[in-house]
Amino acid sequence: MKGYGGRVLAVDLASGATRIESLAERTARRLLGGNGLAARLLYDRVPPGTDPFAPANAVVFSVGPITDTTVPGNSRACVASKSPLTGLFFDSTFGGRFPATLKRTGFDAVVITGRAARPSYLVVTETGALLKPADQLWGRATRDTVQALVLAEGGDADAIAIGPAGEQRVRFAAMAHYWKNREGVSGRGGLGAVLGAKQLKAVVVTGTRKTEVADPAALKALVEETREPLKKGTQALSTYGTPFLVGPINALGGLGAFNLKSEVFAEARLVGGEEMKAHYHDRDTTCLKCPVACGKQYAIPEGEFAGTRAKMPEYETIFALGPMLGIANPEALIRANDLCDLLGLDTISMGVTLAFVCEALERGWLTKDDLGVDFGWGNWRGMLTLVEMTARREGFGARLAEGAWRLAESVHPDATKLVYAVKRLELPAHSARALKGLSIGYATATRGGSHHDTRPTPQYAQGFDRRSAKDKPAFAVRSQHFTAVGDSLVMCRFTAERGYGLFLEEPYARMVRAVTGWDTTVEELERVGERIINLERLFNVREGVRRRDDVLPWKVMHEPIPEGPSAGMYCPPDELGAMLDAYYALRGWDRDGVPTPSRLAALELG
Ligand code: SF4
Repeated sequence: MKGYGGRVLAVDLASGATRIESLAERTARRLLGGNGLAARLLYDRVPPGTDPFAPANAVVFSVGPITDTTVPGNSRACVASKSPLTGLFFDSTFGGRFPATLKRTGFDAVVITGRAARPSYLVVTETGALLKPADQLWGRATRDTVQALVLAEGGDADAIAIGPAGEQRVRFAAMAHYWKNREGVSGRGGLGAVLGAKQLKAVVVTGTRKTEVADPAALKALVEETREPLKKGTQALSTYGTPFLVGPINALGGLGAFNLKSEVFAEARLVGGEEMKAHYHDRDTTCLKCPVACGKQYAIPEGEFAGTRAKMPEYETIFALGPMLGIANPEALIRANDLCDLLGLDTISMGVTLAFVCEALERGWLTKDDLGVDFGWGNWRGMLTLVEMTARREGFGARLAEGAWRLAESVHPDATKLVYAVKRLELPAHSARALKGLSIGYATATRGGSHHDTRPTPQYAQGFDRRSAKDKPAFAVRSQHFTAVGDSLVMCRFTAERGYGLFLEEPYARMVRAVTGWDTTVEELERVGERIINLERLFNVREGVRRRDDVLPWKVMHEPIPEGPSAGMYCPPDELGAMLDAYYALRGWDRDGVPTPSRLAALELG
């Protein structure tokens, strides 16, 4: 089968037993790989009601047909599990070199279940996997761990590791991979905590198998044709990285600040791409074989953090740990971002949880005594301390480690009204109020508050009507199919959107045809996307998700944006209800958001 290793590796950490299964071509064609394959494996192998921290939960690492080909942005892998934050299906992707190396093992997916008897790491090779002791690594930061493992396993090996936060089962613990100066972080949903519960410190991959492509000339022609549009479309990303978004989104009135009390941040310029580049840019970093190099390493030349060399905070991180907390100190943001990566924390959930704390302090629902730390709007020193306390579950950090929603439930009967989260996943930096397509997008996202289910990018384009609810359910459906397929190929979102199209169109069908040799059409890819979304929804429905769960944060539904270019925008419950009706109808789901047998049969999921 071209484009695939054709094998799935199942690993039981309790016994150390491994099993190699073949990947049927029928399955591959219907789900592609990555996200789609992981959804199938988790639906089939994780019993309903399983505690995410229980041995029966599975973690899947998967790649897709374009991984380790010549497509720009091909070194991207999916990691998926039942999330300890949402209790639902969750997938997250990351780059670097690990994804290509995983593909070179000849396994399209590795399914990890059970719990190791002691701290361990897993080495996946072309012939299977071996569990090795990691007692010496337990407690260490992600980067130290990865460096130690690459030293131990050889320079061709790649590793992804959890930090102290994952070990402590922080519900939004991440995992990080380092290659040269590039980091690949699987940030969201607390999947690092699932590894921690399994006593699995890291996964190491090593292999040399080549991915065979059905029609190399056709793939080469496609890559050539898209080279210029990709270069043009990624110019700002290549120059500044994602922080370039701070200025335009603030100018549009959609940059959440002070826990959504405003969506304009007066000091945005200080934490935007241009200023950051001017003061801190050290070098560009890139994933394997990607011409975009959207990663930047920063260096702080002077002041309190002088000598710090660290990864640039992404736009989402800047939002969550900056404006949402009223913080405009770029050096504190660089430091906080580095801390989160090293300790293994999702920066978005961390920041949005702290933003809730700021507002709860203001209302007197929490006090300084509760926190044991001086903290409030703009207090970056307190923020840095609380980040460390969270990762180690020290003092109030143990409550922060539960995420914003669970923390709020323990604070005050009305406190969840202050939380910016959907399905308990804290929202990122693309406004649920100022972008109507994201209002319905977040409400219906499998993951909840994720900007990788329905995409914000098309909504920032000139000519897109971001204010009206009209046609937004159809927009969300199409966009969700696009992301599901993209995460199954698995392709970097930046190279996909800027080089190949914002929705499933002919370039993607050409790509799949060239790599696999199948006669895939755009319509078939739309059905693949729909199938994956339905499979994820079935997983969530099995866990009890219904229409009542497809809601937006209270503030988004009840408090209009008070000022700025998007003043007055919000998504009241009746508007959301009408969009949900339309969305479910388009999906062929019933009024409670449950996929109907006829639609499932049409998707061959019956
Ligand atoms: S665009 Fe950025 S994130 Fe995507 S593959 Fe290239 S370097 Fe990696």
